[in-house]
Amino acid sequence: MTANLTESDRPAPQAAIRVLKFGGTSMGSGERILESARLVLAAGGSPVVVVSAMSGVTNQLEALRIGQDTPIAQIEERHLEAARTILSEGPGREGLERAIRARLRAVREGLGIEEEAAVEEGPAADGVSDDVRSAGEDLSVLLMTAALSRFGHRARVVDARTIVRTDDRVGGAVPDDDATVERARHRLLPLIDDGVTPVIQGFVGASADGRTTTLGRGGSDFTAAIIGAALGAPEVTIWTDVDGIYSADPGQIPAARILPELGYEEAVELAYFGARVIHPAAAKHAVGRQVALRIRNSFHPERPGTLIRIDRRGTPGVAALAFKPRVGLLTVRSRPMFMAYGFLARVFEVLTRNRVPVDLVATSHTSTSLTVDRDAPLDRVLTELDAFAEVELLTGMATVSAIGAGLLRTPGVTGEVFRALDDLPVHLISQATDTSLSFVVGEERAPEVIRRLHAALIESRLPNASPHHDP
Ligand code: ADP
Ligand code: ASP
Ligand code: MG
Repeated sequence: MTANLTESDRPAPQAAIRVLKFGGTSMGSGERILESARLVLAAGGSPVVVVSAMSGVTNQLEALRIGQDTPIAQIEERHLEAARTILSEGPGREGLERAIRARLRAVREGLGIEEEAAVEEGPAADGVSDDVRSAGEDLSVLLMTAALSRFGHRARVVDARTIVRTDDRVGGAVPDDDATVERARHRLLPLIDDGVTPVIQGFVGASADGRTTTLGRGGSDFTAAIIGAALGAPEVTIWTDVDGIYSADPGQIPAARILPELGYEEAVELAYFGARVIHPAAAKHAVGRQVALRIRNSFHPERPGTLIRIDRRGTPGVAALAFKPRVGLLTVRSRPMFMAYGFLARVFEVLTRNRVPVDLVATSHTSTSLTVDRDAPLDRVLTELDAFAEVELLTGMATVSAIGAGLLRTPGVTGEVFRALDDLPVHLISQATDTSLSFVVGEERAPEVIRRLHAALIESRLPNASPHHDP
């Protein structure tokens, strides 16, 4: 992979700048936020902090129904309680409480909730706005700034809307790199020079006309990578709730092993094929801009974590397995009266127009299968494809991917894969690079597939590696 910026475009390296991103569990309570603030102080240099919403809050906001107040009241109480843990009684805490209430008042207004008219189960909100979706991160920056100031550290909220410029796609906006780099430097470098730590919402941005946007679920990692690259920071630390990147989701495979280092291609593939620990766009952005990413456990800061190195291509063999649920398998065949020429172009034109991304593709003379996100607008896609193709959609699928550098050149790997899956129905096999090999299986079979592949490809090959620590 090559850098997207030329030498002269790239900011001069700012060795002292450390971008630290704290995920939902690291922001999950007043105590956790104080711990995370201590990690900022311990980082030394000039820290820049990016925060997620408290764990679960974005889910609660996305599920809000019109007129329903109970979840908002719960979110309010959780943040007020954190405020009471972080600051002792006094004008500072009162100001913080007022700011929390004001932000949630705006959410209530956005959903047409007046206190007397609140209901338990209103009609679905037909997709909440990004104004509502961004509230969790807006509250988190307030709490993190308060925690840093409680330790006597100079910190200030810098609204991500004034830095991250995006297009206007609701729920999944795409940043404009040049505008964002320019703003990040302009807004942040003077503060940093002044010894002030900027605290920025992850996940949040704004379109050219000033409307709030969000970068897609898990997008705070992406914000951290964008800011790190814009400021020329050598490394971005993603503080999360596991020790780093494992050979499989440690919540699913207890025998998963921590990977001290990972090559950049492996990291990008792993993220794209579903390992939630790092957002795919963050991995890709950091790699393209030559920023190293380190994933660490905020519950165990003494552990070294995983370093995604831009100068490392990875070690041969299977490093890790990833899993993506909620996949649809779409099979299309050209109708007999249509020429095969241009058929695939038409299929992709329909998918592109409906903004449905495709992960895997396998094609034969008579048909083409592709995987799509089951929650995408597939009804429309099916109707449009039906005009020129025979179409079949299987929902309830998952992809399982084996990731490792030089995977197919490593003797024995493919044999072991097929032996391990011998008696299980596999709907599609896809391999486009030498770094990943993916399968589509029924969602209910995926845990078994991962367990078998992990045992065959990873446990049996690394007898001396140590299994993971629990957080
Ligand atoms: P945060 O809120 O800190 O961003 P996430 O929940 O987004 O945290 O990501 C961390 C989670 O990713 C872990 O708790 C773990 O369950 C999951 N995960 C999935 N695959 C992996 C993997 N290969 N290595 C580590 N964690 C993984
Ligand atoms: N809070 C957002 C989410 O839950 C962004 C993030 O956590 O990265 O998706
Ligand atoms: Mg995350």
